[in-house]
Amino acid sequence: MRVDVVSIFPEYFAPLDLSLIGRARANDVLQLAVHDLRSWTHDVHRTVDDTPYGGGPGMVMRPEPWGAALDALAPADVPPPRLLVPSPAGVRFTQAMAHELAAEPHLLFACGRYEGIDQRVLAHAATRMPVTEVSLGDYVLFGGEVAVLVILEAVTRLLPGVLGNAGSLDEESHAHGLLEAPIYTKPPSWRGHDVPEVLRSGDHGRIARWRREEGLVRTAAQRPDLLAALPPERLDKRDIAA
Ligand code: SAM
Repeated sequence: MRVDVVSIFPEYFAPLDLSLIGRARANDVLQLAVHDLRSWTHDVHRTVDDTPYGGGPGMVMRPEPWGAALDALAPADVPPPRLLVPSPAGVRFTQAMAHELAAEPHLLFACGRYEGIDQRVLAHAATRMPVTEVSLGDYVLFGGEVAVLVILEAVTRLLPGVLGNAGSLDEESHAHGLLEAPIYTKPPSWRGHDVPEVLRSGDHGRIARWRREEGLVRTAAQRPDLLAALPPERLDKRDIAA
């Protein structure tokens, strides 16, 4: 997968050299390039922002550097990337969207700062490529960089060959609309708290049932919205009895 990121703070992306994302880059599973938006400015101050039309506080990112950046990174003579614009006004990023993005050959991220990017940049880009404004959640960050780090991490771990044991993708929270059951490791007893007996029983049928029920209980307690959205056919009779 090819990924281009445009930001006025390319230094933000240093962690993408680390850990499993760094290895995916080294193995060429992920071809990532980070670009400084200011390299597409032409004035001595390398200006990227200006005051908002209609008044109000803050500054807005000007369209010209963004237009030049998108022209350079998504030239008309090659298949267009999918443009992702982090924004608190975007659609909510989910594991389902992570799977959708992991199937794309080329992603292009545009990191806003200040009050965000002049909307005409998105309108113009949408005439040439798919554009999605994407939100991490219902809160406001300083800029899109942290959102891109989050999205890229969620997407990269879904790429073939990135996780040592791809089976973990099938058993984790959000894989099937539920949260994962609590997990434990050694020692069996710690500060008066014991690992549930069933997990030490060696009975794989009982363990699977316990994990399913604990996942349901945890989802009901912490994320009743997920349980309410679960299609009824995903629940079996034993789930309902539990
Ligand atoms: N004026 C914008 C609004 O009210 O919708 C908020 C701008 S915010 C201060 C600056 C930038 O941070 C945004 O352009 C976006 O790139 C990023 N950002 C802030 N909150 C975000 C969120 N919840 N999800 C994704 N990106 C976010």
